Amino acid sequence: MAAQEFPSILLHGPRGAGLWEALLEGAAGLLCERTPKASAPWQARACGECEGCHLRRSGTHPDLRVVVPPALATELGLAPEAAEQGADKRSASAGREISIDDVRSLIDWAQATSHRGGAKVAVVHPLDAMAAPAANALLKVLEEPPPGLCFLTGTQQLDRVLPTLRSRCSLRAWPRPGEAAALVELQRRGEPDAQAVARWCRHAVFDADPARGLEWARRLVRQVAAGQLPPADGVPPAVAIESLQKLTLDLLRARAGLAPLYLPELEAQLRRLGTRGSSGAWQAWWQRLAQAARTADFPLHAGLAVQAWVVEWNALCTSGAN
Ligand SMILES: [Zn+2]
Repeated sequence: MAAQEFPSILLHGPRGAGLWEALLEGAAGLLCERTPKASAPWQARACGECEGCHLRRSGTHPDLRVVVPPALATELGLAPEAAEQGADKRSASAGREISIDDVRSLIDWAQATSHRGGAKVAVVHPLDAMAAPAANALLKVLEEPPPGLCFLTGTQQLDRVLPTLRSRCSLRAWPRPGEAAALVELQRRGEPDAQAVARWCRHAVFDADPARGLEWARRLVRQVAAGQLPPADGVPPAVAIESLQKLTLDLLRARAGLAPLYLPELEAQLRRLGTRGSSGAWQAWWQRLAQAARTADFPLHAGLAVQAWVVEWNALCTSGAN
């Protein structure tokens, strides 16, 4: 077994921190044929012009293998054939997993020598999206990686990665971007309300939809402040819960005389609404929301659940002090 040039790396960080983008950037640095060798993938910057960079950008680099679950491939706009396979052959839940077939095919690829004589890079993400047989197959190649092969993997749920896999990787925390980087990313996406969106998602701007729930939350506050019962609007439960948690935190901050974190532009309305309801009632509501957040992906009666939360939130905002 030859020594690896780079260890297998497992990036872990929260949703929206840009793990996927970071993995691709790391792969780009490793596959660039002009950048000087660095001691870690993220220290090398791809030149963007060499043959290695061209092949990578056109998606045909023979020494790069990307393995993601079919559902994620669709979301990321990768390999349509993987997405079709997912729809035809696999159940909806299996579409969220990396299959053992994908891992076996990765291992075959990994055993072959480098086409371009440089590094070979396998991007496997998320590392927690694997059932035990696939994980065990992957473990074999992580234990004895072919020379020159670098594994770049990521997860948002480090505690769900099998310990045996985790122990073969060098762990690296990937934090959410700072404010400046968050604004750059939002502007790159053409987001007109970049400042407000960055605040709303607490800089988790690499999420597919960092503004999710923002418009709904603004409408809720404005309508409740105007004495109207706000609509549930078909918002998915997970989004509704997350938005109500942010709103409630802002209301409690306003109640304590602190500036809102998420919707500072609505401070006056939030302050008025937050002073109604007893602190005990708000406390109990906060705890119920936290409980609901753990089950919000459960689709049963989704619309009714959201409607009930909105009604309850509205009642708290409009109740007299009790
Ligand atoms: Zn290059």
